[in-house]
Amino acid sequence: MKVISKPNTKPLDAAERNKRVAEPGFGKYYTDNMVIAQWSEATGWSDATLQAYGPLSLDPATMVFHYGQEIFEGMKAYTQPDGGISLFRPEANAKRFAKSAARITLPQMPVEFFVQTVEELVKQDKGWVPSKVGESLYLRPFMIATEVGLGVRPSNHATYVLIATPAAAYFNAAKAVTVWISTEYVRAALGGTGEAKCGGNYAASLLAQKQAAQEGCDQVAYIDAVERKWVEEMGGMNLYFIKGSGKAAKIMTPKLTGTLLPGITRDSILTLANDLGYKTEETMISIDDWRDGVKSGEITEIFACGTAAVVSAVGAAKSVHGTWQTGDGNPGVITNEIRAALLGIQHGSAPDKYGWNKRII
Ligand SMILES: *Cc1c(COP(=O)(O)O)cnc(C)c1O
Repeated sequence: MKVISKPNTKPLDAAERNKRVAEPGFGKYYTDNMVIAQWSEATGWSDATLQAYGPLSLDPATMVFHYGQEIFEGMKAYTQPDGGISLFRPEANAKRFAKSAARITLPQMPVEFFVQTVEELVKQDKGWVPSKVGESLYLRPFMIATEVGLGVRPSNHATYVLIATPAAAYFNAAKAVTVWISTEYVRAALGGTGEAKCGGNYAASLLAQKQAAQEGCDQVAYIDAVERKWVEEMGGMNLYFIKGSGKAAKIMTPKLTGTLLPGITRDSILTLANDLGYKTEETMISIDDWRDGVKSGEITEIFACGTAAVVSAVGAAKSVHGTWQTGDGNPGVITNEIRAALLGIQHGSAPDKYGWNKRII
């Protein structure tokens, strides 16, 4: 499989593009091109085509509209100090995309093919990659079931699409987010789709997110479905809890039990925090641990992490059990240190010891 290049013959003029890249927002503007590939059970994957960004035309009986067979990824391209561009751990996204596909009964896309589509789009639309630290070109690969029919069974046709949008820093790094701990709704249960990056998980989470907003919170945090006490993750991000301070601090994250989404940022931070001299632990953390820990001051900092926002401090947590504030409510020093260390690698200003960056330009 290869990527056939038929780029947009009428790209946005450079002045207008530069204006958009200078004030990118998130998901506000899309680049000139996209990549599309088709899969059918009979013939496997087609070559991919890089073509002008634009609407998809689909029969109303297309399966994805009815039974939600959809998966996606989120990854970023970062400008490097010499003006080049790198992707951050794209193979990790490719592997997770294949795992998500297996769970949702969509076809697995070969890792090299997936990465190639991303590389080709970023190379073609390189003028859309912002250059400030924290900014990036956000890439959104996704796959939908495109057999036409209403029978409930795995689709024998799938469409892969890759789009890109220039992205500002997601949250204001100087401000901690507040979270609503949902005790009413769960995100995922064992045996369900919590480990797959699929739209369905998000569809099921929007009501809790809406409730969070009504409670004056920025985000929602989920607890486990069975005992309703173990902290799992926050919306589309994984969580970290820090006990103690200075180099004696211990950095903990909820263990991957089969219901959490295995974040690539989460994984990178486990390595990075160790490297910075901190003890790390993947463990079970209950809402009681959260409440008692921040009350006694044993838990000094909490942050959430994911590709979109990178690292975001978590201040107050609110639930039916009350409101608990972390520290003084502002982003902590270790949170800031970890964010800076990760962004340093992603932007090429710190050594890339683990070979996480894939230089493409
Ligand atoms: C994508 C995602 C994350 C974060 O994963 P990264 O690979 O770090 O971006 C965490 N939780 C959920 C539910 C997600 O969909």
